[in-house]
Amino acid sequence: MRRLQNRPHLLEVAYDATEKALQPFKKVLKPGGKMEKVFVKGEKLTKGMIFDCRMCGDCVLHSTGMTCPQTCPKTLRNGPCGGVRPNGHCEVKPEMMCVWVQAWGRSQKMPEYGKQILTIMTPVSKNLAGTSAWINDLNSDKVKKVPTGWSEE
Ligand code: SF4
Repeated sequence: MRRLQNRPHLLEVAYDATEKALQPFKKVLKPGGKMEKVFVKGEKLTKGMIFDCRMCGDCVLHSTGMTCPQTCPKTLRNGPCGGVRPNGHCEVKPEMMCVWVQAWGRSQKMPEYGKQILTIMTPVSKNLAGTSAWINDLNSDKVKKVPTGWSEE
């Protein structure tokens, strides 16, 4: 399933379709609501298999080349640190490719959302850890906590 990450355009189309499909259910899909447990299980399973999702609950995949920034050992959300090795690998885990090298490469294959990789992301909302990112996305105005000085991306 991880290989699907190398089909970022397919994934952005799937993201779009899912977002549109969920919109009509916005009123019943509430954080902490009855459906949340079902969504959490589904996301753990599907996003876990495809993206190695860490269930931060504050998903930005479509803005990061369909590459999960939480899998960066430093959990950097706005690009690589200064320690990327000349071969594109991580300074913390030399055996792994830098998440941001992958994110950039994949974003270049995403005609719809690829440019969003240039957007500065707000810090991850720690209060959302372990909750459903899809439900949070539908209710982002209510659940996302943005520190003073930041505006919602
Ligand atoms: S950004 Fe968060 S919700 Fe999205 S795949 Fe990564 S850990 Fe999971």
